[in-house]
Amino acid sequence: MRWLSRNDSRIRKLIEILEQIYGCRQRRQGLDLTQVIVLTVLSQNTTDVNSRRGYFNLLKEHPPAAGVPEEIKDSGWDIRVVDSAKELPPPDWKSVRKSDQKSLESAIAPAGLQKSKAATIRAVLDWQDNLPEEPGRYLADLPEDEGIKCLTEIKGLGVKTAAVVLMETTEADVCPVDTHVNRICRRLKLVEYDGPSREKLFGELQPLIPSGEGYNLHHNLLSFGRTICKARDPRCGDCPIKQICWDRRVRKEGEELKLKFPG
Ligand code: SF4
Repeated sequence: MRWLSRNDSRIRKLIEILEQIYGCRQRRQGLDLTQVIVLTVLSQNTTDVNSRRGYFNLLKEHPPAAGVPEEIKDSGWDIRVVDSAKELPPPDWKSVRKSDQKSLESAIAPAGLQKSKAATIRAVLDWQDNLPEEPGRYLADLPEDEGIKCLTEIKGLGVKTAAVVLMETTEADVCPVDTHVNRICRRLKLVEYDGPSREKLFGELQPLIPSGEGYNLHHNLLSFGRTICKARDPRCGDCPIKQICWDRRVRKEGEELKLKFPG
């Protein structure tokens, strides 16, 4: 199976097809690093709706000095309406920091695992207070592997979250392995590794990605995983990349070693 990993033409083909469907993603500029970390932490092991509810509670209880955009307030903090707001403002982090553990836990409770998530949010705020400069600038100056190492030193932050934060807030060329990327990589057999660790999968996937494509590939895989290669009932019948997929739904047993991929 070793040759499979060297077959980076499949990744190029994947990038090309996904781009035809979902377009080429442009990086968002000027995101608040602490906000991205907190949103990512809140999103762990829960639905988008519930993690947003936890975030909005934080925003309501600790509004930023510049205030909350009227479109959010006018919605009555209705998640379905607010979700369409272009950018969410960060809460007043100083005020969040001063709040006691119980009230922080209760604010983010809709996102679940509030005890550990509140502890991580506190650890993030402590971490950034101890940096020699503004956290976004500090991380942007580090090589990607050092940036990930630095972030994973924060208690409660794993490699996936660190990679997402770097990808979203700096120019880091990484493709974090979240639930969608993990599932699709395994179905496509993009890497040799087939154990349970997403961290190892990330380590093998990263060198295979053509330079400058990490951000684009990650976001397009998310869209692909939500609409076509879903966890349950993937739409293999009309999947645009089935010709490069090794999943048992589209390959017969034993067929894989004979298969040639398009270049
Ligand atoms: S053929 Fe099926 S399993 Fe393979 S990538 Fe497409 S949807 Fe996913």
